[in-house]
Amino acid sequence: MTDLRSHAVEIAEQFSDHLDVSADEVEERLESLVSEYRVPVDEARRSVVNSYLDEAGIERDELGGGGAGGNEQTLLNDIDEDEQWVDVRAKVVELWEPRSEAIAQVGLLGDESGRMKFVSFTTSELPELEEGVSYALGNVVTDEYQGNFSVKLNRTTSIAELDEEIEVGDDSTTVEGALVDMQSGSGLIKRCPKEDCTRVLQNGRCSEHGNVEGEFDLRIKAVVDDGTEVHEVIFNREMTEAQTGIELDEAKQMAMDALDTTIVEEEMRGDLVGFYYRVTGPTLGRYVLANEVERLSEPADAEELLIKARSM
Ligand SMILES: [Zn+2]
Repeated sequence: MTDLRSHAVEIAEQFSDHLDVSADEVEERLESLVSEYRVPVDEARRSVVNSYLDEAGIERDELGGGGAGGNEQTLLNDIDEDEQWVDVRAKVVELWEPRSEAIAQVGLLGDESGRMKFVSFTTSELPELEEGVSYALGNVVTDEYQGNFSVKLNRTTSIAELDEEIEVGDDSTTVEGALVDMQSGSGLIKRCPKEDCTRVLQNGRCSEHGNVEGEFDLRIKAVVDDGTEVHEVIFNREMTEAQTGIELDEAKQMAMDALDTTIVEEEMRGDLVGFYYRVTGPTLGRYVLANEVERLSEPADAEELLIKARSM
């Protein structure tokens, strides 16, 4: 079976309860997108699935299953399955510039559980959502792409503005374990002073602005081992000062006396490595940004922990 054929069979199967659609028909639509329009197979699949979802949504509507009711009221953070019909109550946290004419609106929705991307399509002809306003959204469809979930508004989505404002949670996570290592770029660092830049300088250079007069800052890039996996955690200046007892002025003085900034990192290493911590904060890419840090215990055997962490 060709790749397209197997996608077509899968899609036809997926919609068999909702639509009268044959694998041949699906394959023809995929084929046309892939060979005539040069759309990558993955995208062609998504596009075809979306259009069937839209059609299936209309049928649901006619059967009386659609609208704001009918689906489970779901928290954004609980969405963990692709292509499900759900109802959400969420605030429009941010609107982004759509990159394609097919997209009417794209941005971030938020509710108490966290945030999630949403998309609405031009063909769905929906009323526009406003930033900062909270809505009850009925009949949205979940989507998964490379492990990231989003929701799609479609022709059958109902939109009702809420009187109350939805509190938006921050997706924060908690990591508990031994701080087994500190990465380079920890301790006393210099940041680019240009507005909105704040990149960390490497040998006095900002990757965006070149050689600049940097501003001193403190931070720690810590490696925390929870026993199963290791997490990279960033302590900002405030957290670094609180956990090491070394304030920025003192760190600058230490570096000046030693004519070497790495002495600060070495000193902090001794204060932190080998202790157990509970760290809570939002995630940014692979990092956890420490908003709350609690030291849990006496030092573990750092040497042993390090060996364990490196062998993972
Ligand atoms: Zn810069």
